Amino acid sequence: MNILVLNSGSSSIKFQLFDMGAGERLLVKGLADKIGLEDSYLKSEGPDGAQNQRAATLPDHRAALQAIFEVLRSHGPTENVASDVGGVGHRVVHGGEKFGESVLIDDGVMGILRQLVELAPLHNPPSILGIEICREMLPGVPNVAVFDTALHQTMPPKAYLYGLPLDLYRQHGIRRYGFHGTSHAYVAKEAARHLGRPLEELKMITCHLGNGCSITAFERGRSIDTSMGFTPLEGLVMGTRSGDVDPAVPLFLVKDLGMSPDEVDDLLNKESGLKGLCGERDMRDIETRARQGGEAAQTAIAVFVYRVQKYIGAYTAALGGVDVIVFTAGIGENSAYIRGEVLRPFRYLGLRIDGAKNQEGQTVFSCPDSAVCVMTVRTNEELVIARDTCNLIPCKEDPTKRRTRSPAE
Ligand code: ADP
Repeated sequence: MNILVLNSGSSSIKFQLFDMGAGERLLVKGLADKIGLEDSYLKSEGPDGAQNQRAATLPDHRAALQAIFEVLRSHGPTENVASDVGGVGHRVVHGGEKFGESVLIDDGVMGILRQLVELAPLHNPPSILGIEICREMLPGVPNVAVFDTALHQTMPPKAYLYGLPLDLYRQHGIRRYGFHGTSHAYVAKEAARHLGRPLEELKMITCHLGNGCSITAFERGRSIDTSMGFTPLEGLVMGTRSGDVDPAVPLFLVKDLGMSPDEVDDLLNKESGLKGLCGERDMRDIETRARQGGEAAQTAIAVFVYRVQKYIGAYTAALGGVDVIVFTAGIGENSAYIRGEVLRPFRYLGLRIDGAKNQEGQTVFSCPDSAVCVMTVRTNEELVIARDTCNLIPCKEDPTKRRTRSPAE
């Protein structure tokens, strides 16, 4: 069965089409970008890696999805998208407290998704729009929502509550939710599978270090804490996001420096992090500049690494020890230097890394006698979405089968 995975943003839609038969084959992937702008384009890549990019008129998300369906047709085997796609999986950033797992979408779910816009005003509306258009353009094709937050719904109150008046949580849902759940879930399972151990038996810390960065602590197979919070701004220092700052800083920016709330929002989300510290957001460029003696780049790396170390230390304490530390996403998968720097202080845990294996990017790069296993695992959020979609869509022969109850029911 073919499953289409969509990640709808405010000005782009990423797509991947999988054949979920044996082997879970990726058939085509791509991106409709700069939707609503003059220079919008469509990019696609087949399984052989052959890429195609062309200018396309994409005034809105509907036109973008139409163009994506054209790409699917031209790549076959989807002659007719509505009949050849068995289901569409949508990445939805925020599931609030309503969704602790992926869900088959119906009118009730749509209603809850609209209510959740209050919690994610930037991220959820494009996903909702993508779902609405698919429901309309592909009648009869089931849609599934897969949430970035769902994995972390297992966090206990001591991890998800802020030290704020409890009514702010009760009345406005102000609490820590955590994000990147599909990535953390995927690499945690893959790591356990590689080690031939049940995830439930491992104390594991997963580090997703990409443009966005977060760390999750797994105990008995469940997320018990994660570094992102009410929004994806909390926690680690990221490409352009500040991560943790004293909450008095934004107040100072408004009250003493006269910035507007929107300007503060932009500053914390788009002008801070690595970019704020050294002017670059791309870790490859920052590493190059640091090697050439650039002081700002060296400082930015030191701040980035130190924050990761602090979270690993905190989660090791929260878990009462750690068996496995996993690195993933652009920086985590590719930068042996950052992995090595992050792990340097953890010799006190009996953690020993094999420098050569780390350089080669081997899956397990700790020494055989290391008390903690350290690993690099390539993430695949789209495959998680495709799998969840496949598992939730109703059987054609018996629509009551494989049907997960929606919270609205
Ligand atoms: P996103 O969160 O947008 O999916 P990615 O997971 O692709 O981001 O990660 C992007 C980050 O990974 C960038 O900072 C990029 O510089 C970094 N990165 C990619 N390859 C390397 C590498 N070989 N060395 C260091 N950093 C890398």
